[in-house]
Amino acid sequence: MVFDIRAQQVAGEHYDLVVIGSGFGSTFFLHEFSRRRKARVLVLEWGRHNTHDWQLEHGSNSNVQDDSTYSSNSSKPWDYTIGLGGGTNCWYAQTPRFHPKDFRLKSLYGIGLDWPLSYDELEPFYCDAEEIMSISGDPDMARMLPRSRPFPQPPHRMSTPDRMMKAAQPDQHFVMPTARARVATAQRTSCCANFRCWLCPVDAKFTLNNGLIHVFEHPDVSVCLDAEVRRLDHAGGSVRSTTFMRDGKEYSVSADLFILGANAIQSPAIMLRSGLGGEFVGLGLHEAYGRNFEVYLDGVENFDGSTITTGLNFGLYGGPHRAEHAAALVYFENRWQHGMRAEKGRLRQALPLFIVTENLLDPENRVILDKDENAFVSFRGASDYAVNGMAKALERLPELLKPLPVENIFDRGIRPTESHVQGTLRMGTGPDDSVVDREMIHHQLRNLVVVGTSTYPSCSCANPSLTAAALSLRAASRIA
Ligand SMILES: Cc1cc2nc3c(=O)[nH]c(=O)nc-3n(C[C@H](O)[C@H](O)[C@H](O)COP(=O)(O)OP(=O)(O)OC[C@H]3O[C@@H](n4cnc5c(N)ncnc54)[C@H](O)[C@@H]3O)c2cc1C
Ligand code: SF4
Repeated sequence: MVFDIRAQQVAGEHYDLVVIGSGFGSTFFLHEFSRRRKARVLVLEWGRHNTHDWQLEHGSNSNVQDDSTYSSNSSKPWDYTIGLGGGTNCWYAQTPRFHPKDFRLKSLYGIGLDWPLSYDELEPFYCDAEEIMSISGDPDMARMLPRSRPFPQPPHRMSTPDRMMKAAQPDQHFVMPTARARVATAQRTSCCANFRCWLCPVDAKFTLNNGLIHVFEHPDVSVCLDAEVRRLDHAGGSVRSTTFMRDGKEYSVSADLFILGANAIQSPAIMLRSGLGGEFVGLGLHEAYGRNFEVYLDGVENFDGSTITTGLNFGLYGGPHRAEHAAALVYFENRWQHGMRAEKGRLRQALPLFIVTENLLDPENRVILDKDENAFVSFRGASDYAVNGMAKALERLPELLKPLPVENIFDRGIRPTESHVQGTLRMGTGPDDSVVDREMIHHQLRNLVVVGTSTYPSCSCANPSLTAAALSLRAASRIA
């Protein structure tokens, strides 16, 4: 292993594999690829390696502000971490799988796009990703999301409102699956529900630093940090080399195979800068659409679960309504982000919820380049499909919450972001509908593999990173 190799040492060198970025998509790909094949690998990472101790000391996941890396015509924030490990540093470690029907939106409901692969094809790789991150989850969830192997860790403890919902709705209310450890592992302590997961003080959630750093310490892997990839240089149907900037200077390296995992804003920007702006490159930037609620309960106390989000309710998810408006997923919170109740003796008789609805890929929401050739987000807004889905979910919420003694439901407003950056280099069946194929290989440049959430052709309501990890494990197992 050569950690933080100098740019001058790699300039002009040839590698078997060059990996761009080191977040979910890249790291899980490299993990699986290195297990299967010996290869000389160079990782080019824009950020630094910020250890857990550094992050705690500085109260930040990175020394680079994410909003300094793009500009936009909209005030909507797009959150990510620039640094070794990417989103594994800042994520909250919520890990539901996508619903099997999320992969077949077009064929089932005539809206959006289908994925070029099915839930069943991805299922073994979901299991592998869950194993690597020691995911805790509810065995009962297999009723909704079929699984061939048990969750590696037992489920978290539900809150009292969760238990009441589960008793009344066993087929649709489940403990939240999560990479926040229920029981301690060799590297992680158990989650103690102190609710600042973007930088877990007790190191209970999976991160690259506590779970997959060995991928970068492999003797055949060199990591060049502070290396911002600017372009892919291509000729004759393949990528020949990549150009990156370090300390204001440009360097170039060549390779047989390139893995592009620089997040759903920076990856399309790299492609556009490289003259690789096909019909779909940059288009369809999206994330789920979210809204906060708070429910006052009569006599039932909340906040006795064992982690930050304890319940996930699918009661507003499936059904023919998806032809008209979005599926909705309801998250049951075990943290008091709206404060405690002021009335005497009723401190804990409140239930914070949030609802997310799936979005569609709108060509008007996209990544382009600004005059300096840096990423520019042109964003019009969430789709009517998502907004109408939220309105319908709100109408149906009182019925869904019938098992609870509800006093009042307060709308606490739109969530500015779900911190999920998706779309822009979508996968599909051919160049007529997408950028990459079902193996995540670019349709024309067959030695370019795109990984991470940029490849999503539909949104789902579920958090995206477990799926990105599973897709990378699958692609690497086939390509290696
Ligand atoms: C606060 C927060 C909470 C979140 N919570 C959850 C959650 O609970 N569950 C969930 O599923 N998801 C969550 N996410 C989302 C999750 O982080 C992303 O879905 C995931 O990281 C996307 O993976 P990726 O591989 O596409 O990109 P990333 O993980 O962002 O990796 C991209 C990598 O590329 C590097 N890079 C970027 N540009 C360049 C360049 N030009 N040259 C070289 N390197 C480059 C970056 O530094 C980074 O290492 C959360 C995100 C945030 C911000
Ligand atoms: S709830 Fe607390 S202990 Fe658990 S992962 Fe989040 S920050 Fe860490």
